[in-house]
Amino acid sequence: MARRAIAIDGIVQGVGFRPFVHAMATRLGLTGFVRNRAGGVLIEVEGDSAALDEFTALLSTCPPPLARIDGVAASVLPVTGDAQFRIDASDAAGGDPVSVAADVATCDECVLELSDARDRRYRHPFVNCTNCGPRLTIVVATPYDRERTSMASFRMCDACRAEYEDAADRRFHAQPVACPECGPTLRSLAADGTTGAGDRALARAVATLRDGGIVAVKGVGGYHLACDARSATAVAELRRRKARDAKPFAVMVADVGEAETLGVVSAAERALLCSPARPIVLLARRHGAPLAAAVAPDSALVGVMLPYAPVHHLLFAALRRPLVMTSGNRSDEPIVCDDGDAIERLGGLVDLTLTHDRAIRVRCDDSVVRVIAGAPAPIRRSRGLAPESLRLPWTLAQPTLAVGGHAKATFTLGEGSRAIPSAHLGDLHDYTAYTAYVDGVAHFERLFRLRPARLVHDLHPDYASTGYARERTRAEGLELVAVQHHHAHMAACLAEHGVTSAAIGVCFDGAGLGADGTIWGGEFLVGDAARVRRAAHLRSVAMPGGERAMREPWRMALSHLREAGVDVGDTPLARRLTPQAIRTIERMIAGGLNAPATSSVGRLFDAIASLVGIADRVSFEGQAAMRLEALASEVPADGAYAFALDAAPAALTVDAAPVVREVVADVCRQVAPAVIARRFHSTVVDVIVTVCRRLRADGAPALVALSGGVFVNAILAAEASAQLEADGFRVCRHRVVPPNDGGLSFGQLAVVAARDAEQAARRCA
Ligand code: ZN
Ligand code: ZN
Ligand code: FE
Repeated sequence: MARRAIAIDGIVQGVGFRPFVHAMATRLGLTGFVRNRAGGVLIEVEGDSAALDEFTALLSTCPPPLARIDGVAASVLPVTGDAQFRIDASDAAGGDPVSVAADVATCDECVLELSDARDRRYRHPFVNCTNCGPRLTIVVATPYDRERTSMASFRMCDACRAEYEDAADRRFHAQPVACPECGPTLRSLAADGTTGAGDRALARAVATLRDGGIVAVKGVGGYHLACDARSATAVAELRRRKARDAKPFAVMVADVGEAETLGVVSAAERALLCSPARPIVLLARRHGAPLAAAVAPDSALVGVMLPYAPVHHLLFAALRRPLVMTSGNRSDEPIVCDDGDAIERLGGLVDLTLTHDRAIRVRCDDSVVRVIAGAPAPIRRSRGLAPESLRLPWTLAQPTLAVGGHAKATFTLGEGSRAIPSAHLGDLHDYTAYTAYVDGVAHFERLFRLRPARLVHDLHPDYASTGYARERTRAEGLELVAVQHHHAHMAACLAEHGVTSAAIGVCFDGAGLGADGTIWGGEFLVGDAARVRRAAHLRSVAMPGGERAMREPWRMALSHLREAGVDVGDTPLARRLTPQAIRTIERMIAGGLNAPATSSVGRLFDAIASLVGIADRVSFEGQAAMRLEALASEVPADGAYAFALDAAPAALTVDAAPVVREVVADVCRQVAPAVIARRFHSTVVDVIVTVCRRLRADGAPALVALSGGVFVNAILAAEASAQLEADGFRVCRHRVVPPNDGGLSFGQLAVVAARDAEQAARRCA
């Protein structure tokens, strides 16, 4: 006989880990207990040594599907003679007060119950268990317990309570447990004022969708706007009402088989589609896919997700067709999650609202991911992933809040080496988005019981997040640290990979304020997460009209033409512009009037797209690049354009002027736009590889981190990685947080953590 204490760290709370331990201990004839503790669970087991060994081995070899074991530490204890194995409830035993899990898609067992006419949860739109269901989005406060969730107002019936209290049951301590007897109910509200409840409400929604109508569907982290994805009129009408002209819509389909009719699904993509987070997966769209063209007009991809809430499964059981499922909001506003808002802000956009009486406490947009060269590349880390904590390879000296950027905003709370990134919060220039952001920060600080002593923000003074950080640090007397945009991008990538050494950071994106006051976005930074130097960059050109140039790529085309010494009159672009518009822009550039200098690769993409004739004006940032990538993916690689490299005293500069001249020559020779787009992509890859080689020859490390929003482009990310690796570089690409500004807050936290570690090391020395 022996007794052991086993402490397990990782994601082991709220994922059915304690029942799993209980079942295994009982089967092996062991006694003792399991309880939650800060950062994990604690087990004490007693019994026969051989059985104890088997128990310990099985713990980490076959944990429950949602568990993630980060560490196991065992020690020997004196035998106490327990009679049985018990589960100590977290509330009674002082579990980790700050553990909140991400929302989990309805599991297979619950889906079976949903469709089993003999089950008491047959067609119950709120079926869930320990292995699935809402988490973050229903938490009001911690510890995570029913009375502190939006399920508090629903009194469990006797049958549910019995399951909830039975350690051997799949619903043991499943906080949102419910059934038709005691759970929430669906309701429908039609534009004509008629209402329905339960199955009638669902039937109304199905009928409306079938008739080509638009329905607001309350899901897990907010409302979706849904319509038949095959109906051109329904999709066009949705675009009109939502005031969104071109940004792709995501589509939900019944299962993987249906997904395969829309896009090509690789093994990695299938795994992501079916993963408990159920993100939107960007698939290469099949020719002739049964989808209205207006679903994703500028892209060769289609964003597909599978049902993740019981109500989705019920909709698809009645309606075997792909549905557009886009965030319920008007253009750039945050996703609606409040029921009052749904009536007020979405009511006028829809023919029917399908809602229910379980409140959403934290808004959570769908996550978006793309597979690049076989590996998942996150584009938006949100529902199903937030607030899963990430490990920093350094230790923060004090609790810190990194406030992130401005567009695709997120914030990250940090303490010790734990980082907790928020869900996606949208573009903060929108006032409702900003309010949601401020509320989100306060809510997270309460949930995780973390009061930051220090705030980290972007250098840009006009970001709403910067304003927030300044105001708050002034009011509360906290420390304030500014981190340069592209350094944060690079540090995010290094931190994800646990890299604490120096590297070359290739940071290509739309725009971020540089250390020299100009706008950067085509940077090669050399250094580590604590500090970097700008070793090389794209040569700056004027960005006439500042922000406006982002929506009007023709302005960037004029700017790059001027740098290249090409007269716009010698290009087809001149025929699409008025002489007056051209004169105005040329005057702005010559006089330096509202024409800040930028080294942005994103803006170079814009210029090329305009020169090729596919995007003089766009409605969202990245649209021109999306079109260029879609075109480029139609043809095989076919050469590249030449660029020039100048060894300026401060840093190497990449001169795109020769590229622009050759693009214009190709355009005038009427080379197919797809071929030009493809050559341009190869050119950018050449720039990356050539500059990295040159920097390595000058003493930079043979380790490259690829970051910045440009790297959501699969051709660039895949080919740059492959060529760099073939040349002996180790390459880090984002796997956890997005390369775009959604990953900035995590990167900002990484920078200060790395500096804290450096200081701590200096103190020790
Ligand atoms: Zn379940
Ligand atoms: Zn019940
Ligand atoms: Fe950026």
